[in-house]
Amino acid sequence: MRLTDIWRSNAKPTLSFELFPARSEKAAVNLEMTIDALAALGPDFVSVTFGAGGSTRQGSLQLLKKLKHEKGLEILAYFACYGLGPEEITAVLDDYLAIGVENVLAVRGDEPREGEFLPHPDSLAHASDLVAFIRPKYDFCIGVAAYPEGHIDAPSVEQDLEYLKLKVDQGADYIITNYCYDNQFFFEFVDRCRQAGIEVPILPGVMPIYSVKMMEMLAGMCGATITDEIRKGIAALPEDDKQALLAFGIEFGTRQCAELLQSGMPGIHIYTMDRSPSSLGIVQNLQAQGLL
Ligand SMILES: Cc1cc2nc3c(=O)[nH]c(=O)nc-3n(C[C@H](O)[C@H](O)[C@H](O)COP(=O)(O)OP(=O)(O)OC[C@H]3O[C@@H](n4cnc5c(N)ncnc54)[C@H](O)[C@@H]3O)c2cc1C
Repeated sequence: MRLTDIWRSNAKPTLSFELFPARSEKAAVNLEMTIDALAALGPDFVSVTFGAGGSTRQGSLQLLKKLKHEKGLEILAYFACYGLGPEEITAVLDDYLAIGVENVLAVRGDEPREGEFLPHPDSLAHASDLVAFIRPKYDFCIGVAAYPEGHIDAPSVEQDLEYLKLKVDQGADYIITNYCYDNQFFFEFVDRCRQAGIEVPILPGVMPIYSVKMMEMLAGMCGATITDEIRKGIAALPEDDKQALLAFGIEFGTRQCAELLQSGMPGIHIYTMDRSPSSLGIVQNLQAQGLL
């Protein structure tokens, strides 16, 4: 089902999770358990990332197939066009079509950090070019990425918003945001979008706190602000106590998501990092509160 139809017909906000393909046999076993644990929460859809340069092409496809055909879940296939030529882009999209994908998220991707990768000379420069490429050829429900605090390379949030508007004008049907730990960034971003004439659904992405190291690393990569509330909360926990950090992250994540849902957002999209305990804790709390 198309995500825009789900949002139109659902009485409640949607619940969705992001997964990435496993990179080892051990990770594959863990991923299988994660999928089963998350599926039991009844998500409206599950998304799968795509490694820039096509690095996870087969892995992403196999995972999408499993989620849809073995687990019976609605799927959203991400697609990052970085470095790929028109024929490679068409081949991936045709693969998606063949396994029954209806929803894609069209992103640019970034230069792969490992190995040597030579971009195709006709590769696309921006996600807006990818949306323009897909729209006339495929009947996918197309989403695009956005950044409540601004994309890390953008000269300004205003400029970033103009490029987001371009992606929507080229035919994007919905937006999924990067995470932020302060909902105020998110609310102000949605206001700016609406003022700029961006009318499509905007689904907030949520990143639970998994470990201090991962939180710092990811925030450094995308420019997300780690709030004083989080820093103080973590500083007050017993050192190296993983259970205490998990409980803190679940409590914080529950409050953050509850506020997003109570403010009328179309749902929450949780970046699971292929782990289930944080998502389980947060979602079970929200379900107990009748918010999902
Ligand atoms: C929800 C979500 C899912 C993601 N999934 C993946 C994934 O599966 N695989 C992956 O590799 N990465 C993924 N990413 C990361 C994403 O690829 C990076 O953040 C990337 O740096 C930007 O992608 P984009 O689609 O936003 O690019 P763009 O929209 O092209 O924007 C990139 C930068 O260029 C600027 N820009 C945009 N258009 C123009 C223009 N016409 N002229 C000049 N500047 C312009 C923007 O302001 C921004 O600074 C995801 C991000 C999010 C938020």
